[in-house]
Amino acid sequence: MEKVKALGLLSGGLDSNLATRVMLRLGFEVTALNFSSPFCNCTRKDHGCKNEAKRLADELGIPVRVEFMGQEYLDLVRNPKHGYGKNLNPCVDCRIMIFRRAKDVMEETGAAFIFTGEVVGQRPMSQKLDRMNLIDREAGLTGLVVRPLSAKLLSPTIPEQRGIIDRETMLAIQGRSRKDQIRLAREEFAMSENLCSSGGCMLTDAHFAHRMRDLLDHDAQAGVKDARLLRLGRHFRISRRLKIVVGRDEKENGKLERMAAPEDFVFHPDEASAVRGPLSVAKGTFGRDDLALIGAIVARYCDGAGDAPASIRYRRKGGGPSWVIAARPATEAQLAQWRV
Ligand code: SF4
Repeated sequence: MEKVKALGLLSGGLDSNLATRVMLRLGFEVTALNFSSPFCNCTRKDHGCKNEAKRLADELGIPVRVEFMGQEYLDLVRNPKHGYGKNLNPCVDCRIMIFRRAKDVMEETGAAFIFTGEVVGQRPMSQKLDRMNLIDREAGLTGLVVRPLSAKLLSPTIPEQRGIIDRETMLAIQGRSRKDQIRLAREEFAMSENLCSSGGCMLTDAHFAHRMRDLLDHDAQAGVKDARLLRLGRHFRISRRLKIVVGRDEKENGKLERMAAPEDFVFHPDEASAVRGPLSVAKGTFGRDDLALIGAIVARYCDGAGDAPASIRYRRKGGGPSWVIAARPATEAQLAQWRV
């Protein structure tokens, strides 16, 4: 008999991992769908493959599609219809966007339904019962989203009503504790690793959310590259038109230089001086006074000059002449006032 096709949202975390194993055990032909965005923290350093969902799909022997949400996701973060969670995480709108895309893929692949690793009551914003119903409805998926880990607590879905899924094979996990999931992983699937939740989303991090808010407030055209830059370095907001990003180590210096736009200015200690220090990028426009402040910030992170003025060279990233300024290091109080 031909297997029924199902499309699973696979983040790579424990819950979606378990939901996928449950559906595979029931004999469904599963395709995994993974979403990434500039805010994903879904990598594991101990694996060669950077995308945990891909690695997991390989392990489970199922095909996986990875979809990147770029500018449209940034637009959503700027103005979410259903508001934010604790920080800048627009979870309800984010899930609606993901589910809408999943619906397209479901239809494209001939899957009978989608399934997720969601657990009722686990996340305050998007995994409450009323929010789950709203998300399914707005995505046009009412009755077609199976949540194997909590299905027994939810209204029967269309696949259950049609007998494609036996409700008794579903689970009744709820709440924030992960004890039930860990037991399931160990006892029923003999899993000994990857028993923690997925890396998560930078928008739920208060510090990152603050940087993101600053970006959205000051740059109406902010794009994916700008959002990615928020993960690197120390950030200082000098004025509405100017932000400085200072590398924290050599690796970041290199990344910052590569990510700088041709119109950005790059600052670093003058090679001819004995001073050593980070690479910094100025994004925006600046005048003479701002230039002195930029120099002071860069000098603050240089070694070798003490409180004496440091020679700082700067040039446009895209090429052209370079100039040198002498700058005394900024004080901690000044840095604190600009730090984002
Ligand atoms: S935590 Fe981030 S990725 Fe997850 S639903 Fe919320 S906004 Fe989307």
